[in-house]
Amino acid sequence: MSTVVNPTGTAGVSVKAPPFGKFFLPGPTEVRHDVLYAMTQQMIGHRGRDVEDLMARVAPRLQQVFRTTRPVYTATSSATGLMEGGVRNAVRNRVLCLVNGSFSERFHKASVNSGIPADTLEVPFGQAHTPELLADALKGGKYDTVTIVHSETSTGVLNPIGDLARVAHESGDVVVIIDTVSSLAAGAVESDAWELDYVLSGSQKAIALPPGLAFCTANERVFERARATARRGLYFDLLEFDEYHRKNQTPNTPAVSLLYALDLQLDHIMAEGIEARWARHARMAEYTWQWAESRGLKVLAPAGYRSPGVTCILIPAGKAGSAVAAAMKAKGFVIATGYGALKDDMVRIGHMGEHTLGEVEEVLEALGDVMGR
Ligand SMILES: *Cc1c(COP(=O)(O)O)cnc(C)c1O
Repeated sequence: MSTVVNPTGTAGVSVKAPPFGKFFLPGPTEVRHDVLYAMTQQMIGHRGRDVEDLMARVAPRLQQVFRTTRPVYTATSSATGLMEGGVRNAVRNRVLCLVNGSFSERFHKASVNSGIPADTLEVPFGQAHTPELLADALKGGKYDTVTIVHSETSTGVLNPIGDLARVAHESGDVVVIIDTVSSLAAGAVESDAWELDYVLSGSQKAIALPPGLAFCTANERVFERARATARRGLYFDLLEFDEYHRKNQTPNTPAVSLLYALDLQLDHIMAEGIEARWARHARMAEYTWQWAESRGLKVLAPAGYRSPGVTCILIPAGKAGSAVAAAMKAKGFVIATGYGALKDDMVRIGHMGEHTLGEVEEVLEALGDVMGR
């Protein structure tokens, strides 16, 4: 912790952070120093004019990020809260959870632990789900809800959510719940155009805020179901979110400091433009895939199904992911090992948030040194 950041010059207040451009975890991601600094502002009450002005500024810009005309709700929780909230509000009788990695598995656990009957539709870790497989599973009308992770952060696989949502809707009165935690603001997520019924994300991945906020949007089909179930509980009750959203407030005390950061970070996202942001992520991702493959390293996700935000690179036999990450740390770069049981089989590079292509080139150059490639 060396650099003292104090963009406003306020005496006696500083934020300590290392120089930007070294931190490549696939969440949390690196936060701009001015955004960190925004969090040092004094509190405001969470009822009344100050917070209402803030939320009114935030609301239309979050809609642009989600590509929706519906309200986007802000929760003070990690993203898992709104995964659980999704199934609690939306499922009528039985949910099918598409599983191809650790985060998609979490939807199944959230359902089961909430007392919601749930099954999984599994493909091997490292693979995407196909519309054909889903159409087959939905025959017979056993399921009224499907959960899908767009960008599976444990494997770097991108699921074709537009096609999967279409197939789900063609099969009957089925609602899709989409986790876009490591894809929203990194690549195309078209909540309205793709008819995604419930879309959730978190603050600490491609939106590049500190952890602690989660966002979601839901359509009328989901609200109709929420109104009919007591399972929605209180903290993640969509009806509560909507009631307070109408007043530019949140149901409970929000993490006010994070809202300051959100307000400023949305300025940055809007200044870049959401589509330009997707294009920057595509450049960083494609560079990473080409870099790996040109050095004889394998990218876990198949071409055409790769996340714009995170790449998993398989480690050749004789090395371990944890040793590679440790050697990178010694060079001043933070990257991730494989997730869970895959810890030593791969490294994961989070090329998302505020990073530039130049910074990605630097971290990969260091990785090449460490791996002797
Ligand atoms: C990080 C992540 C989550 C969980 O987010 P938390 O904020 O830790 O609850 C869920 N889904 C995906 C795809 C993620 O990458």
